[in-house]
Amino acid sequence: MKPHTDSDGAAVLRCLDTGIPRTANRGASRPSSSARTPREASAAASTASTAGVRRRMQAQRTRDTRPELELRRFLHALGMRYRVDRAPLPGMRRRADLVFGPARVAVYVDGCFWHGCAHHGNRPARNSEYWEAKLDGNRRRDADTDAKLTAAGWLSLRVWEHEPVEDAAARIAASVRRRLPQRRVRHSDEVGLK
Ligand SMILES: [Zn+2]
Repeated sequence: MKPHTDSDGAAVLRCLDTGIPRTANRGASRPSSSARTPREASAAASTASTAGVRRRMQAQRTRDTRPELELRRFLHALGMRYRVDRAPLPGMRRRADLVFGPARVAVYVDGCFWHGCAHHGNRPARNSEYWEAKLDGNRRRDADTDAKLTAAGWLSLRVWEHEPVEDAAARIAASVRRRLPQRRVRHSDEVGLK
């Protein structure tokens, strides 16, 4: 799949013009990252009184979104190996989009709308109370997830869907490599050279 390109020719994860998440897979109803349960989705759908909001909701899904697939393709090309859609911590049901176990890095591809990106995270005027609560809740849950991961010795890396995919992949690869155990260091520890 060829990445979408912006006016500068840089590959981007998604279209930037409207800030409304788009996917080629209309009809898939699962929202991304933290807005996930079917119950939430149907509650949201019953509140979605405008066609625009309904469309936006219907365009959501949790995994294998186009931004995620693009990111995975770039990471794979960089030689990175990872698990997809896994819960990084035992006892925490929330799943990360990508998990690098040995490096303890969890990656979340955050949709601009659902996770309140500063550039495209505009909130619908209709049903504003519902959306305030919903989107604030998402942000609180993201922060809580990050805190739990940090406390367990993990790094939570968040990538915006609007971020150029090559930049995002390079950032992730650098963090993962930095956090992988290095044999030489361990060897020098063992022989008392530290
Ligand atoms: Zn954005």
